[in-house]
Amino acid sequence: MILLDGKNTAADIRAGLKLRAATFEEKSGRRVGLAVVCIGDDPASMVYIRNKVKACEEVGISSILHLLPSDTAQEKAEELVEGLASDENVDGILVQLPLPHGLNERAVLSKIPPEKDVDGFSEYNIGLLSLNRSGTVACTPLGIMELLRRYGVEIAGKHAVVVGRSSIVGRPMAMLLLNADATVTVCHSKTMDLAAFTRTADILIVAAGRAHLITADMVKEGAVVVDVGTNRDANGRLCGDVDFEGVKERALMISPVPGGVGPMTIAMLLKNTVDAAERSLK
Ligand code: NAD
Repeated sequence: MILLDGKNTAADIRAGLKLRAATFEEKSGRRVGLAVVCIGDDPASMVYIRNKVKACEEVGISSILHLLPSDTAQEKAEELVEGLASDENVDGILVQLPLPHGLNERAVLSKIPPEKDVDGFSEYNIGLLSLNRSGTVACTPLGIMELLRRYGVEIAGKHAVVVGRSSIVGRPMAMLLLNADATVTVCHSKTMDLAAFTRTADILIVAAGRAHLITADMVKEGAVVVDVGTNRDANGRLCGDVDFEGVKERALMISPVPGGVGPMTIAMLLKNTVDAAERSLK
């Protein structure tokens, strides 16, 4: 079994981005800038934001954090994003989701111009992805593709099964695999007999948010298994959607949680931000 090591792969990627960020600073006279908007104080969001801000510092991207209270009005949230959209020092805008109840997420996201949409959540970028044209792609699926590429996983002609159909992971993941010439099956909470599909997967990507949903008997011998899930087990420890101990005996390659997809997601956020900065020079 080969471990799909996202931690070390992401460290390699960050090293490359650090050089690119320094070159950008030399050419432009300013640092690459990422604006992070966080509304409310969801504890999970705060952890993600801290990790993202730390990663930015490490590669020489200046991150500007905008923390707003959970009772922020819709117009205020939209105004803030509009201001960042026209700020020349801001290359990328990230609005941490989910937004508190009562706020219209799509309306806030729609204020991010496509060229600063480093999360790839805008309708424009999603449209480009579904047309197989180049644009900014959501960080988690993009990070998974990069991990597979770096481990030499062949995708064309393979049967890829994606468990989960969210707009931030499952759907863009399926689209990327399709664009890479896989035959793609998307499973979700209404799928009857999930195991019948997962057992035929050469590449199995699991993003359901259900601890230990995928057990060894649901995986084909020699499959490549990527676990996106981030759940807490009964002891409060971080765990994925895949029963790692059981599945690792059957899989050819498998990503761990933690240390798999998570660090790759953050590395892709940095990459999308540096890409956006470099585009602004052209
Ligand atoms: P979501 O809740 O929006 O979507 C979950 C999807 O899984 C849905 O489409 C649902 O239909 C499907 N699903 C749920 N139960 C199922 C079941 N029993 N069988 C088949 N399908 C089922 O979640 P999301 O935002 O896509 O995230 C999924 C998981 O990935 C979560 O654990 C989340 O925390 C994690 N995540 C990790 C990263 C990372 O960087 N590591 C990034 C994003 C999300």
